[in-house]
Amino acid sequence: MIIQCPHCRTWNRSSRSACRECARKLAPGPYEETRPCIECGMRIAADEYHPYGVCLMFKGCYNSELVRSNLLEIQNRSYVMGQQARDDHN
Ligand SMILES: [Zn+2]
Ligand SMILES: [Zn+2]
Repeated sequence: MIIQCPHCRTWNRSSRSACRECARKLAPGPYEETRPCIECGMRIAADEYHPYGVCLMFKGCYNSELVRSNLLEIQNRSYVMGQQARDDHN
């Protein structure tokens, strides 16, 4: 079956509607699959958790790069805390 790509208008043999080139461009990468945070509107990964403090931080500076680096730190800290809590339980 030969179909026309809706993005670049080239004819191609594909089971999808987009050609291989466009399908690759459109495919969501690890950082491209994002959704806006309900609270502050910052683009975050679909599985990313935004604590309330991080939303406040973004509302204060609107610098997603800065917020992201802080968010990683917070997440690492809570991960370590979770590990310790589990160790205490055992
Ligand atoms: Zn195309
Ligand atoms: Zn947020």
